[in-house]
Amino acid sequence: MNYLKHSLQQLGKRWLYGTIAVIIATGLVVTTPQPSKADINLFDLIFNGIQYIQLSNLSDEQEVDLGRQTDRALKRQGVRIYNRNSEVVNYVNEIGQRLAATSDRADIPYTFQIVQDDSINAFATSGGFVYIHTGLIRAADTEAELAGVMAHEIGHIVGRHSVNRMREITLANGIVGALGVSQDDLVNIGVQLALFLPNSRTAEYEADALGYFNMGRANYDQRGLITFMENLSGGTPEFFSTHPDPDNRVNRLREMYNESRQEGATYGNNPEAYRSRMSSL
Ligand code: ZN
Repeated sequence: MNYLKHSLQQLGKRWLYGTIAVIIATGLVVTTPQPSKADINLFDLIFNGIQYIQLSNLSDEQEVDLGRQTDRALKRQGVRIYNRNSEVVNYVNEIGQRLAATSDRADIPYTFQIVQDDSINAFATSGGFVYIHTGLIRAADTEAELAGVMAHEIGHIVGRHSVNRMREITLANGIVGALGVSQDDLVNIGVQLALFLPNSRTAEYEADALGYFNMGRANYDQRGLITFMENLSGGTPEFFSTHPDPDNRVNRLREMYNESRQEGATYGNNPEAYRSRMSSL
């Protein structure tokens, strides 16, 4: 009797230690003990090869991978990438890389893609993936205006806004297991965020400020972001449905410009030069 009880205890301990070892080996921390859920997730992990991600402890490498998976899912969802004219593609990439290099998060790779879509919009997902609609490129009057939007989108990557929202959504919906969230679930949320869900005001203000100062460091005329938003605010472009609060944002940016602007940052404000480089779009 005693012996049996002892063996069961030993067995229980061994099982427990085995589980903990797996969890430690995969670099995961269990905050809420949920044994049944953990069992299922461990089973998935070992037998089905499902990848789990801890958003609270995401490495840059994991974030870039998440961005890459989301990029594939967006294309499966019908997001069409423009690549007809390589000069246009290269030009947009050049602007993006110039800004990425002076951003507050220059140590991850950035991927800038043009989306074949006439609506005036741009968006960023995670891990350096930025998308600019053809409609927005046409709506911009100068390179500095386009650079302003792109710097703003890079600001969302710097602020990790997509990842933060993923974390909020997964917690609110109770889909965080002991091992984290499955990569498939995160990619689905990432697609929803990119295409349909507006950013919070706080995230917009932060991306504006980060973008504004980054433009200055890249020597772009910082008024580009302001005039782009001013010119659009009469209509109702897509950009403002996913980027709320245009009037307040313009006011804040104007204040920033009055208080601090980068000396000599006047690059990209020639409309003719911009039109000629974008003529084959
Ligand atoms: Zn935004």
